Amino acid sequence: MQVPGQATSVSATAALDRARALHAACPVVDGHADTLDRSLDGHLAFGGSQPGLHFDVPRFAAIGGALQFLSLWVPGDVTGDRALHRAMRLVGVLREGLRRQGGFSILDRIKDRIPGVPGVMLSFEGADPLADDPKLLEAFHALGVRMVSLTWNGRNGFADGLLVSDRPSGLTRLGRDLLRRMADLDMVLDLAHIAEPGFWDALDAYPGRVVVSHANARAVCDHPRNMDDDQIRAIAERGGVIGTVLYPRFIGGEGDLATLALHVQHLQGVGGHGVLGLGADLDGISALPAGFEGVQDLPRVTAALLEAGLDETAVAAWLGGNWLRVLSGAEEVA
Ligand SMILES: [Zn+2]
Repeated sequence: MQVPGQATSVSATAALDRARALHAACPVVDGHADTLDRSLDGHLAFGGSQPGLHFDVPRFAAIGGALQFLSLWVPGDVTGDRALHRAMRLVGVLREGLRRQGGFSILDRIKDRIPGVPGVMLSFEGADPLADDPKLLEAFHALGVRMVSLTWNGRNGFADGLLVSDRPSGLTRLGRDLLRRMADLDMVLDLAHIAEPGFWDALDAYPGRVVVSHANARAVCDHPRNMDDDQIRAIAERGGVIGTVLYPRFIGGEGDLATLALHVQHLQGVGGHGVLGLGADLDGISALPAGFEGVQDLPRVTAALLEAGLDETAVAAWLGGNWLRVLSGAEEVA
């Protein structure tokens, strides 16, 4: 796989200027945020300015935001019909935001994107909202869910998450049924959070597009949420992206943006620049890197990559180009 040449290091100020120019020119796509969950629990409206949250639509629009995946995550102790109910409440937060506030669109397909208007797609971070009934996927697809991960950290009816310590296993029969329905709907499979047996099972069983919406490189930070080199290569070979996440514990070292750049460089070195993407996990993480306070600071992350010597082709691909490729490719197959 081709690796673009490395530019020489540039000063921080020049890098921030170049980053802002890239944000003005390139669509920004982020693969994961938990803003609906934070909005629901905090009784906050979605769509307008919410300075207490990491993400809001106006700040995303101002830095070139083209598409944000919003997760229908439910806590691990909320299961069955209660998980379905919670997910419906999260969908309600989004739909009410669109009706009352506007300023964004819920996209069925990436080609429906309106330039200058941030788009939103929904995702499952764990398929728990299905309450163990894969037949409900059709209804969630109709509500805007376009990307599905089978598990969060724990065990559910579909697979084991990576915190299952009791000999985690791969896909269940129900998990395979869900993958068949996802393929029929041409959805994107997200392998973040799944335990390794399920990662390889699902990769093998799923014929469609595969990504890891939010994870870093284990070679730089040895954390089970991060991807090892075999996993990076496997995702790259399938044409998928791995969204780099801003959580300092998954960055390792100083947990700063310079260290995050080492992850992006490693991902590029192992998987090529086609595997690069952003999956910041805004409003889902309890700490942020120094100098980053919310989505308005994404140009600082972009600048850190430029400062580390990544070239602009790779950085533009990381910023959104690769996510757009994956999503529009999925539509071509449909
Ligand atoms: Zn997560």
